[in-house]
Amino acid sequence: MAGKLDCLIVGGGPGGLTAAIYLARFRRSALVVDEAKSRCAWIPTSHNHAGFMNGINGLDLLDRMRCQAVQYGARLETGSIKSLRRLDEAGFVAVTEAGEELAAETVILATGVIDDQPRLPDLFDAVQRGLIRVCPICDAYEVIDKKVAVIGHGRDAMGEVLFIRGYTADLTMLTLGTPMNLTAEDRNKLSELGIRTVEEQVERVTEEDGRITKVILKSGEELEFDTLYSALGTLARSTLAVQVGADMNDQGRVIVDSHCQTSVSGFYAAGDIVEGLNQISVAMGQAAVAATAVHNLLRRRDGMIPPNGAIPPADPEPKQSADTTLGARDELADQVRR
Ligand SMILES: Cc1cc2nc3c(=O)[nH]c(=O)nc-3n(C[C@H](O)[C@H](O)[C@H](O)COP(=O)(O)OP(=O)(O)OC[C@H]3O[C@@H](n4cnc5c(N)ncnc54)[C@H](O)[C@@H]3O)c2cc1C
Repeated sequence: MAGKLDCLIVGGGPGGLTAAIYLARFRRSALVVDEAKSRCAWIPTSHNHAGFMNGINGLDLLDRMRCQAVQYGARLETGSIKSLRRLDEAGFVAVTEAGEELAAETVILATGVIDDQPRLPDLFDAVQRGLIRVCPICDAYEVIDKKVAVIGHGRDAMGEVLFIRGYTADLTMLTLGTPMNLTAEDRNKLSELGIRTVEEQVERVTEEDGRITKVILKSGEELEFDTLYSALGTLARSTLAVQVGADMNDQGRVIVDSHCQTSVSGFYAAGDIVEGLNQISVAMGQAAVAATAVHNLLRRRDGMIPPNGAIPPADPEPKQSADTTLGARDELADQVRR
């Protein structure tokens, strides 16, 4: 077993890589082990990630973050963590797929989720061209007034349909042959809003010149759409959290406190694997909080935080200036203008 790491980061998506950047800059030994199947790699262009006026490609964003982490000394390895164990005395031992044992004081879990995708041909390519989308919060803006179908069933899919209704009135809910599982009241709501529902199995999807031309149903009926949204849900990659006994919700998403620590001491989580909104900015924010909390935990271990003194929060508030009167603020504004 190699020397003990300050932190093992499992997963190298936006969450894991943000944690690596922070920890490397805190001068902590951090290793990211990543299977390289980030959801971010599927993003053709993200237009809602702040700071990129013309959008950013998912692979490009990951590449930039990897370079930034390595530049400050974080280590990144491609591989898979197969098991994780908490030691009684403190710290964790992880075992990689290759059988290597890794010891770490702390662990940040940033393993994300897997999209349950519809079984359609050339899926990755179709997602890259915006023919199939999975995240209305991310990109419903791009389908304003387009002809859209949502693939899914049950109340979750209905929630997505109603969300997209704010962008287009031309909406169909397709269940691909699965029963709709909606109440009469839900169905009335959909029909009131002019949303069509189709429970028949889809036989084939045809495409021409970069557009889905037709969705052909088993009966032979042909439907045309500009974009299909998949609302089939996600599967949390939470096996390691189960192994160390962290609390999770009924969907396998890890529950964390305000410092992104799970119910297991020294075991933190960030990103889609955490209960909450699946977004790059959320993954980055939670990872920043988790990495800072890890650093403070280790500073306390190193005696750099007084044992009985007030514990500095992982995410300290900026100190309020002593003089917050309107006059002082006006003076500051004048200085900025000058
Ligand atoms: C098509 C699409 C479009 C999207 N568009 C946007 C958008 O425009 N804006 C936005 O904010 N969000 C968007 N998202 C969501 C965004 O991609 C996710 O919220 C984000 O990637 C979550 O980051 P994460 O680090 O939590 O997980 P991920 O990015 O999924 O990374 C998790 C990593 O952990 C690895 N891993 C899992 N288990 C292990 C293990 N045991 N050992 C080692 N590695 C492991 C995985 O292989 C993966 O590389 C989109 C998602 C998709 C699919």
